[in-house]
Formats: sequence, C-alpha cells, structure tokens
Amino acid sequence: MLGTAPVSLASTIPARGARAPYRRPGREALPAPSCWSVLEPLLPKVRKPVQYVGGEHNQHVTAWEAAETRWLLCYPDTYEVGQPNQGIQILYELLNERPTALAERAYAPWVDLEELQREHAIPTFSLETHRPLWAFDVFGVTLPHELGHTNLLNLLDLGGVPHRSVGRSTEDPIVLVGGHAAFNPEPLAPFIDAAVMGDGEQVTLEIDEVVRAFKREREPAGPLEGCDDAEARHELLRRLAAVEGVYVPAFYAPRYRDDGRLQRTVPTEPGVPALVPKRTIQDLEEWQYPRKQIVPMTETVHERFSVEIFRGCTRGCRFCQAGMITRPVRERRPETVQRLVEEGVADTGFNEVGLLSLSSADHSAIGPIARDLADAYEGTTTSLSLPSPRVDAFNVTLSNELARNGRRTGLTFAPEAGSERLRAVINKMVSEADLLRTAEVAFAEGWRHIKLYFMVGLPTETDEDVLAIAELGIRTYEIARRHGHANKVTLSVGGFVPKPHTPFQWAAQDPPDEIRRKLSLIRHAIKDHRGIKVRTNDPEEGVIEGLLARGDRRVAPAIERAWQLGARFDGWHEMPTLELWRQAMAETGVDLDWFSYRERDQHEALPWDHLDSGLDAGWLWEDWQDAQADQQLDDCRWSACYDCGVCPGLSIEHDTGYTGGFSLPVVPSRLGGSDELPSTPERYASGP
Ligand code: SF4
Repeated sequence: MLGTAPVSLASTIPARGARAPYRRPGREALPAPSCWSVLEPLLPKVRKPVQYVGGEHNQHVTAWEAAETRWLLCYPDTYEVGQPNQGIQILYELLNERPTALAERAYAPWVDLEELQREHAIPTFSLETHRPLWAFDVFGVTLPHELGHTNLLNLLDLGGVPHRSVGRSTEDPIVLVGGHAAFNPEPLAPFIDAAVMGDGEQVTLEIDEVVRAFKREREPAGPLEGCDDAEARHELLRRLAAVEGVYVPAFYAPRYRDDGRLQRTVPTEPGVPALVPKRTIQDLEEWQYPRKQIVPMTETVHERFSVEIFRGCTRGCRFCQAGMITRPVRERRPETVQRLVEEGVADTGFNEVGLLSLSSADHSAIGPIARDLADAYEGTTTSLSLPSPRVDAFNVTLSNELARNGRRTGLTFAPEAGSERLRAVINKMVSEADLLRTAEVAFAEGWRHIKLYFMVGLPTETDEDVLAIAELGIRTYEIARRHGHANKVTLSVGGFVPKPHTPFQWAAQDPPDEIRRKLSLIRHAIKDHRGIKVRTNDPEEGVIEGLLARGDRRVAPAIERAWQLGARFDGWHEMPTLELWRQAMAETGVDLDWFSYRERDQHEALPWDHLDSGLDAGWLWEDWQDAQADQQLDDCRWSACYDCGVCPGLSIEHDTGYTGGFSLPVVPSRLGGSDELPSTPERYASGP
C-alpha cells in the first residue's frame, strides 16, 4: 500500500518473541548513551540508511540533562511514510518550546535494520540523539490507521520496554497513543498505558505537566519517594486518567453477554469517567503549528510545505471516520494561511505547498486564499496543491488557479460510489450529471487525466451499483476522448472497511472473496475500453484493518501472536503478513467472521461506546437508518443543524466556519448552484 521496497522481504522476516537483551540498565546508567557509534558502521548494509541519521533542517536538539520530561514521538512506520506527519511535527514543536521538556522522534526500522539491531543489541532509538527508547519518560505514538499495531509492539520490544503494560515499572516510559485509530484502542488495551482522544495540542501539554510533577515527587524527599513502584505507577496512571481526553484502559473492564456480544465497558477505578470525552481545540489561530517544519533528508511520501487550513468536516459522508471524529469545522484565517506559507517556503525551501484539510476546497475563503497565493508565487517554481474530494466544476476552477505555475496534468475526484442511489446511501451528494459536467469542464480547460476514486463493499450495495462504476468510467472516458486522444481516465477502486464512530459502524464488511468478485465485475465491464485504467487494492488488504478497527480486547492476543510470528508493516505489499495473521487468529481463537463480517444491531454495545467522539449515539443510529433508506443529509455548514451532538458539547451553536456566514457554494445534486470562484467580499478580511 505505502511506498516501495527494492527486494522481496518475505524470507528476511526474523522470528520474534524473545525479549530484547538491552533492557533499561537502571538509573545508575543514566544519562542514556547514544547508540550512534554502534549503529553507524551498520548503516551501509541497509537500504535507505539516510533515514536513520537525523540532522535535518529544523530538527530540535535539547540538552538531555536540561529537560525534566523527555518525549519520544513516534510514527510506527518507516521514515519515508511517517516524516511528513503533521501531528508529530506539531507536538514536537510544542513540546520543544517548553523550557522543561524535550521531544525527539522515532520511526520503525525496516526489517533489514531490525535484524541488525537485534544482532547488535541496538534498541529502538531517537533520530535526534540516537538515544534508546527506554531512556525517555513518554513514548507518544500516533496511529493514523490500524496497520501499525504490530509495529508498535515491535518498537517497544526492540526498545527494551515490556510490550505489555502490566510488565512496566516507573522506570519505563509511559506508552501513549493518539490519532484516528486511537478512537478504538481496545484491541491495544493490554499494550498501551493510555490513549488520547481528539486534538493533541492542549492535552499533550497537560500530560507533560502531570509527568513532570510526578517525577519531581519521586525524587529524594518528594512525597512519592520510597513509594512502592507498582503503587507509584498506578498513581501516575490515575493522574493521567484525570486529564480530560485521556483514556487509561487498565481502569476499565469489558462485560460480555453469554453469546459473546459486548454488554458494556465499565470503569473499575474510582473517579474515572464512565464516558471519556475527546479533546477539541476551538480556535486554530491560537495553535499556529508547525512553524518550523522539518525538511526530510531523503525522499518521503509528501515532499511539500503543508499548512492545515481547517480542521473538521461536516459533509457527513457516512463511511468517513476522519470527518465524523474531527467535527466541528474550525478554519484558519486566510491571512494566517498566507503568512504561514510565505514564512514556511522561505525557511524550508520546499517548492510545493499543500493546503491541507479533509476537504480543502470547502474552506469558506478558499477562493481568496488560492488567488492570493497563486498571485504571490506566479512566475516562480513554487506550486500549490490541495486535497479535495469535491466533484464539481468549482474544484476545476480552483485547480486552474493553483496550477498557474504548472502544467494541467491530472485531477482527482472522489464520487466513491457508482450509482446515485448508493451515493445517497453514503451521503456523497453528487449527481452523475455533476460529475460528467465537471469532466467536460476539466478536459475542455486542458486537463489531461482524471482519476476517480470509488469503493466497493459499501452497505446495501448490489451488482447494479458496482457496474455503475464501470458505466461512469466509460462515460467519463468518452468525454476525455472528445477533447483529445491522449486524455486518460483512471478508476481507482478499493474495498470498504467500516469504522467506529460512523453511521456504518454497525455494518457488515464484505469478505475478500466478495470484494474480488465485485472488482472482477468492473474489469469485465470495461474490458473493451482499453483507454480506461483500473487500479484496485488487494482485496485481502482490508482483512487486518477491519478486524483491528472494530475489534475489542479479545483481539489483543491475535495482535501479539501475529507480531511474535513476524508480522510487521501490515500495510505494505512487500510484507506477506496476512498468512501470519490467519495463523495468529486460529491459535488465539479470534473469529474473523464474527468480528468483521456480521451486522450489529442497536442493542449490542460497541467496544468504543465508552469513548465519546462528541457524536450522539442516537443520531448515529438514525443516520444509519437514513442510509439504509437512501436518505441524504445536507452539510450543516450551510443548512440547518441536524443535531449530531458535537456543537452543544462544545457550547457552540452552529459552526459555519471562519466567515460566520454560509460556506462556499457546495452544490448538492438536488439543489444546483454556482461554481464560480467567489469574489473577495470584505467579510473575508474582517473575521468573525
Ligand atoms: S451539532 Fe449541528 S451544526 Fe454542529 S456539527 Fe453537528 S449537525 Fe453540524
């Protein structure tokens, strides 16, 4: 799925499970030594050695002894995948600004280096000073998806930290996870100490305070000096659980029904909340990070300067976990975006700027933002890009503006489903007429290639819906050919995986054979149209993701066993981990059919019910019923609030974005509207 590797690595996965020989040696060995002198001579033996070196522009090195709290922030994949992650860069900068804290970064070593690390007793290390994981106070791991879980266990084990939390002492780092996959951390419950729900900025600083105070109290003459280690660790976890947005799994227990279904998850520690709320920062203007983006030493998946232009999404796509859990929309001011871009480009030397969000064309001032940036960089080599799933001519107009400095090559749209009926089910408000009109405009204006994203395996899907993907592709290709024989259309089709905290959380996932059958229907339907390319994911890819996304604590032994058998990098094509997972599931009695391929009813408790994403459970269920009745729901930014529950929880009424008025003319299929770039009304300049 991610990146490429030059060789087949199947035979190189080492058998795992033994404890690493490089445990924390004890306080007398501190300060922890750097492992660089042992690591450096080994680097010529591994692929892409530069990813383990550090020393990038804007990396931050704080004197080890000067810090009271030491964080190792980790993205549990390779440097090339994890380095651009904005979440880590934000927290890295925030923590390093504190005079009492330091933060360094770690990524997962590829299997070639891991093998050498185990052979030479080199622990999981930080990039900045190559210090071992065990020397840090907090191991903060971001989980943007579920396919890094085995890497997390491996990093702990390799770093000299017991991979199960019950085996840890106060000498070990606190193991924290955050990110979207942390909204159901139950499969990881035995391995983590805490999960952070929601926006990380404020809560990270509060956690840092808790850890700092705890360490001071453990010092000689402190109130916790001499306290039994298990009791002291329990006290630290208790204090962490008191921070809003922090979930400590050890303080909760699941109760199951006789038939195996979950009854509920209950607190077992006095004082912890029955429902753990997510954290939400209300004003992005107060958190203008990252200011000093780290420039990678080697090729990464995104080489650009990125500015998050807003957070959250209220389009209501029912399959989209990111959109649901990040509500409400909070926009950055256009002038702030402009300044951050100008300062960032000057500082980093990147010649591409990404304006990031879940649907960047929906910023209520995106017209002026795009125009002003395009003006600023006209005639230079700096290009601008923005991810947007919008399927309308406005998106083409916007792309034209952003492409002033470059060629009009490819545009990407995401109708997600082939038929209008199924698009109503998933709440993707776009008609076929919209899509074809958009293609017409795009090819007429000189774009050469349109890529369309779809999913199969969506709830209520029939073969007719699947074949509609091919039909839409063929019609789009006919338009492409009218405007030029070299024009291209690509259909990119993946298998749908239901996610927690979405209206589809109750839905059955399609097994891989069914996904495979549906993909072959599409391929067969377009076999006479050679100009259309079809790109599909491996149908088996969703198996592990689906199990971990909606699993409960009973899945944990399968994660542990899969890791012991050698599973790593579960999202990579090059890593043949599915057979290891199947073996692990068989050995640990995890029934994939039961966890993934059955529909839940309203009365079954879900493993994440005690974790509050802000969405009202009743509203989610109603939206699931609406989906099955083909009912669409408008974007609440420009229509009435439909009471999803998020805004009242934040004491705000109806968030319509930065301008305080309606957002841009998002055009639902049944309403019609303007696709013009909006003129620059004064309201954009004055703020709310
Ligand atoms: S509470 Fe209403 S306005 Fe706020 S995000 Fe939910 S639907 Fe939209």
